Amino acid sequence: MSKNAAIAELLEEMANYYDLDEEIWKQRAYAKAARIISGLGQDIEELYEQGGTKALIALQGIGKGIAETLQEYLNTGKIKELLAMRKKYPGIADMLRVQGIGPKHAKVLHTTLKIRSLEDLKKAAKNHKIRALQGFGEKSEQDILEGITLLEQTKGRQLLGVALGYAREIKASLQQHPSIQKVQISGSLRRRKETIGDLDFLITSTHPKEAITYFTSLPEVTRVITKGNSKASVILNIGMNADLRVIDKKSWGAALQYFTGNKDHNVALRQLAIKKGYKLSEYGLFKGTLRIAGTSEKEIYAALGLAYIEPELRTHTGELEHAKNNTLPTLITQNDIKGDLHMHTTWSDGIASSEEMIRACMKKRYQYLAITDHSPSQRLANGLDKKQLLEHLKELRTLQKKYNIQVLFGSEVDILADGQLDYPDELLAQLDVVVASVHTRFKMSKTEMTKRICTALQNKYVTILGHPTGRLLKERKGYDVDFDKVFDCAKKQGVAIEINAQPQRMDITDSLIRRAIAQGVMLCITTDAHSTEQLNTMELGVGLARRGWAEKKNILNTKTWKSLEKYIKRRRQ
Ligand SMILES: [Zn+2]
Ligand SMILES: [Zn+2]
Repeated sequence: MSKNAAIAELLEEMANYYDLDEEIWKQRAYAKAARIISGLGQDIEELYEQGGTKALIALQGIGKGIAETLQEYLNTGKIKELLAMRKKYPGIADMLRVQGIGPKHAKVLHTTLKIRSLEDLKKAAKNHKIRALQGFGEKSEQDILEGITLLEQTKGRQLLGVALGYAREIKASLQQHPSIQKVQISGSLRRRKETIGDLDFLITSTHPKEAITYFTSLPEVTRVITKGNSKASVILNIGMNADLRVIDKKSWGAALQYFTGNKDHNVALRQLAIKKGYKLSEYGLFKGTLRIAGTSEKEIYAALGLAYIEPELRTHTGELEHAKNNTLPTLITQNDIKGDLHMHTTWSDGIASSEEMIRACMKKRYQYLAITDHSPSQRLANGLDKKQLLEHLKELRTLQKKYNIQVLFGSEVDILADGQLDYPDELLAQLDVVVASVHTRFKMSKTEMTKRICTALQNKYVTILGHPTGRLLKERKGYDVDFDKVFDCAKKQGVAIEINAQPQRMDITDSLIRRAIAQGVMLCITTDAHSTEQLNTMELGVGLARRGWAEKKNILNTKTWKSLEKYIKRRRQ
C-alpha cells in the first residue's frame, strides 16, 4: 500500500495549490481523491496495471481529470501540472508542513514577505517580520518557530505505518532470492517506534555477493551509497535509507540483538556482560575467545542471567532489572484483540459504508465493533445532527439482524470548550459506545484543558477518551494537559483511555501508557479507521501498547463481548 500513501500526498499537495489559485472545485476534488487513495484497500498501481484508466475512474470519487493525473504519474513517475505549480509557488509545500500554517497564511507569507523556504520563514519569524501581517500576531511567530523545530526533529523520518508496509515488501522480495535463507527487519522498526529513520535488514545467504547485488537492484532502490562483500547501504524511493547486512549463522542472534537496539539498552547489556566477565558484540557473547552464545537472542539474554526481553521493551527504562527478577509483563498480542471500538463510515468522513465496515471486522474474526461517526460540531467531517444520528441507528439495527457480529452503535462525540458533550444526554443514552474527543481549541491553558477533559469524563455515557494528547506526528505537538489528573478522573469514573492507532496519531504515547497502567487505568486500542483498509492499523496500536508495557488485562477490547457489555453497563447505572 506504500505507493498509495505517496500518491495521496501528491494529490493533497495539488489540492493545496488549487486552494491558493482559488479553484475551489478542483481543490475539493483533489483533497477527496487523496483521502480515497490513502484509504484504498488495494494497491493503486496494481489496479491500474490490471484495469487501466477505466479501473481508476471506477473508484467512487475519482473523476476523469484525476484519473488522467494518476495515469501520468503511474506511467512517468511525475505530474507535469504539479511541477509547474511547485515552480509557481516555491517553498509553499514546505511552509504548509509547519503546524498552524494553512494555504491562506502561506500565500500571504509568500507574496508579502517573499518567503521561499523554511530558512526564510525562520528568519522572518525571528526578526519579528510576521507579527505585523494581517491574520498573524506575536503568538504566530512563536508557533511558527516551534512548528519548524518539530519539523526539523522529524526530518527524514517516516511514520511507522508507512515504513512497515515498505519494509515488508522489501522483505518479501528478499525472501524470494534463492541464495537467501533468513530475512529479519531489525532497528527501530522492530521496536515499533512511531517514526522510523532508516530500515535495517539482516539476512543469511549462501552467496552473499549475489544477494547484495539483488538487494541494490530492487525497484524500490533509487541510489546505492555503498556496496561491499557483506553489507550494502541504499536510498529508497520514499527518501529513506536502508541497510542490508549478511550475517553468519553463528552470529545471527547477536547481530539481531545488536542491530535492534536501542543504543541505551545495548550499552547497559554490554556493561552487564563485562561485569560477568564476558564480552558482548554483534558477533556473539564471548568468554575470552570462546563464543558461549550468539545463534539466538534468547540464548544471549539467558547466558547473562536474564529472561528474554521483547524488542518493544528495549529502551533501558527498567527492563533489565525486571528481566533479572523474572517480573517482565506478559505483553498483549494481536490475537488478544476481540473488537474495534472507534471507526467512521460514509455517514461522516469515512469512505466505506457501515455494512462494508461490519463485513471487514467479521473477516478479522472480531466479536464486536463500534461504529462511531462524528457529532454535529465537526461540520467539516460531516458530523451527524440528531435526525441523522437516529437514522444511522436505524440502519445499524437492521444490519445487526443480518450479521453474526455484535454491532455497537456509537459516536465520536466532541468535547466542547467547557467540557460539555456535543449531544444531549437523552441522545447519548441511546448509544452503546461514546468516544469523547477534543477536536477544537487546542491552545487552552493546561488547567483549562485538564478541567475540560475531566468534566467530559464525568458524563456517565462516556466510554472512552479519544486520542488523549491530540498530537499529530511530524505536524503538531499535543495540547497541554495534566495527565496525572486525567488518569485519576478516568480511573474514578471507569472511562478507558484510548490508544489510537492511526499512523499519524499513535496517541497516547508509550510513556503515558505506562503511567496510566501504573495508576490502574483501563486502556483501549482502536484504529479510528476511515476505511476498511485502515482497520489493519490495529497492529500499530498493539505495538504501541506493548511499548507501554501493556498486558491483555489492561486493554478493554481484549474482553469478550459479554464482559465488555457488563463493563459498559456498570458505568451507566
Ligand atoms: Zn477524532
Ligand atoms: Zn475518529
